[in-house]
Amino acid sequence: MKRREEMTFLERIYLVEIAKGITLTFGKLIRNFFLHVLHVFGISKDTPASASIQYPNERRDYPSRYRGRHRLTLKDDGSVKCTACYLCSTACPARCIYIEPAEHPDSSVEKYPGRYEIDTLLCIYCGYCVEACPVDAIRMDTGLHPEIYQPDPKLFIEDKEVLMQRSRDLEAKGSDKMYEEHMEKMRKLETNPFRILS
Ligand code: SF4
Ligand code: SF4
Repeated sequence: MKRREEMTFLERIYLVEIAKGITLTFGKLIRNFFLHVLHVFGISKDTPASASIQYPNERRDYPSRYRGRHRLTLKDDGSVKCTACYLCSTACPARCIYIEPAEHPDSSVEKYPGRYEIDTLLCIYCGYCVEACPVDAIRMDTGLHPEIYQPDPKLFIEDKEVLMQRSRDLEAKGSDKMYEEHMEKMRKLETNPFRILS
């Protein structure tokens, strides 16, 4: 499409354009305000009052390949699959994975992560760690979006136990139930932001 370089006289004096902009903005504002009021009374619920998602009351449907919160996968015996090879932390552009290898009691296993932590405040959810792992020990298939309201900043650092527990929860509850629990926690926190949740 050819771009029109020259402005008309009315465009050059701006007043008409400003009036058009204000009319559009206030038109949307008043429309959305009345729709929100109607929704409170249970009327016109099917007509969205705004383009944004009313988090945490509304759910956004994520695509199946959505990169959600991490989990460390488990072997059949419930132990961690990770071999502490450092490939994920080497690939991580945010340098937010910390691994401390340890000697495994089973001599047939070379090593395992005595400590494995992800600082989710630094993480950019790029998925490189998942791609880099040679043994499918880390995944981001939980369907959970990052925690945004942690009352204690230390909880943003997810350690090995938290990441392993997420695999157990996914197996036991499924991602839909986990998502609902997560949103319930967010709703409670919104009604009382000073509540300390674990
Ligand atoms: S998703 Fe990206 S930034 Fe986050 S831990 Fe993995 S590699 Fe690092
Ligand atoms: S999660 Fe995978 S890539 Fe990272 S240290 Fe463990 S085995 Fe290696």
